[in-house]
Amino acid sequence: MPIDNEILNALRAVLSTEEDKFLHEPVFAGNEWAYVKECIDTGWVSSVGKFVDRFEEMLKDFTGAKKVVAVVNGTAALHMALLLAGVKHDDEVIVPALTFVATANAVSYLGAVPHFADSEEKTLGMDPSKLADHLAEIADVKDGCCYNTKTGRRIAAVVPMHVFGHPVDMDPLLKMCERFGRIPVVEDSAESLGSYYKGKHTGTFGKMGVLSFNGNKTITTGGGGAILTDDEELGKLAKHLATTAKVTHKWEYFHDHVGYNYRLPNINAALGCAQLEQLPEFLRKKRALAEKYVRAFEDVKGVRLFIEPDSCTSNYWLNALLLDTEDLTLRDEVLEKTNEAGFMTRPAWTLMHRLPMFEHCPRMDLSVAESLEKRLINIPSGAGLYVET
Ligand SMILES: *Cc1c(COP(=O)(O)O)cnc(C)c1O
Repeated sequence: MPIDNEILNALRAVLSTEEDKFLHEPVFAGNEWAYVKECIDTGWVSSVGKFVDRFEEMLKDFTGAKKVVAVVNGTAALHMALLLAGVKHDDEVIVPALTFVATANAVSYLGAVPHFADSEEKTLGMDPSKLADHLAEIADVKDGCCYNTKTGRRIAAVVPMHVFGHPVDMDPLLKMCERFGRIPVVEDSAESLGSYYKGKHTGTFGKMGVLSFNGNKTITTGGGGAILTDDEELGKLAKHLATTAKVTHKWEYFHDHVGYNYRLPNINAALGCAQLEQLPEFLRKKRALAEKYVRAFEDVKGVRLFIEPDSCTSNYWLNALLLDTEDLTLRDEVLEKTNEAGFMTRPAWTLMHRLPMFEHCPRMDLSVAESLEKRLINIPSGAGLYVET
C-alpha cells in the first residue's frame, strides 16, 4: 500500500471519522461559562478585575515562575520581553528559522534584525552546539557584549522556541550564551505550556519566557499571552509598561515612559482561569492521544511520530509526523489525501529566511531546518480528540 494511504488508515484507526478533525480545537468543559458570566454580571470585563490577578497566580503556581504578567497575546509578550531584555534598534537577535512568524516579527518591532539559527533533529529546536560553532566563527566578545563581526551589530538576545511543545536542549544553550558575553535568553514557550526540561517548566530558564493562549494553543483565553520571569523588578516593569506606564494615582493621569496597552482584559482572564483548572486533564489526554499515534504509526514504514526528547516531558501541543525522506511530492500527497478525508493536516511553517521581509537577514547554515521543513506534517491534536478506551 502506498505510504499516503497507510498514513490515512493510521489516522482513521486513532480518530473517529464521524466529523472533520481540526488541528487543535479548544475544549470548554469547565467553569468557562460561569466565570465569563460573572464578568458581564459585575461589569468587570476590561483591564482591571480579580480574574487577571487569579490567572497570574495560577500560572505562577503551575510554571514555578516568580512573576507572571498576563498580556493581550503571545506576540505582545515577546515584544515586551525582548524590549526588557535590552534589545535595541540595529541589534541582532538569534531566532530559529523553524518557528512561527511572531518570533521574528517581535524582533523587527524593536528595529532589530533576526539572525536565523538551525534546528537539531532530536528536539526540532535550536541546536546549541551548531550555534556555538557558528558564533565562534562570526562573533567577538568586546566589553562584555557579543558582536557579529560580519555585520558589526551587537547580538542582544537568543530566543529558543520549544517547537510543537518539545523542549529545546536548554543546558548547553544557556552555557553557550553565558560564554559569549552573557547574551540574555528569552524563551518563546508560546507552544509549551505544560512542557518540562529536566523537571523544570519551559519558559523559566531564560531571563524571561513567554506563553500564548491563542485559540489553537493548549489552553485559550480567546487571545492572550503571558510573560514569565524570576526577576521581580523586571516583572514589575513589564506590568507597568504593559499598562501604558501609568503611575498609580487616584485621579491623575501621569505616565513615565512610552507604554503599551498590552494588559489582558478580565473577561479573557476569566476564560483562562477556567481553562487552567482543566490543564492537567488536557495534558493527560494529549499525551494519551500521542501514545495512540505512536502505536498506530509504528508499522507504517517511512514515517514516525515525533516523540519528546530525552529528559523532557512534552505537552504534545501539536503532534508531528516526520517522514524519512525529503520528498516534497510525497509530503504534499499526504497533505492532499488526509485533508480531503476530513483530517486537517499541515506542513511546518515556511522557514523564516524564505519570507520576503526576512530574506536578507543574517543566518547560519540551515540544512537541518530545511530538511525538517520538507518532512514534517502536523496532525490533529486537540485534547478533545482522545477517546477513552
Ligand atoms: C502562537 C505563537 C506565538 C504567539 O502567539 P499569539 O498568537 O500572538 O498569541 C509566538 N510564537 C510561537 C512559536 C507561537 O506558536
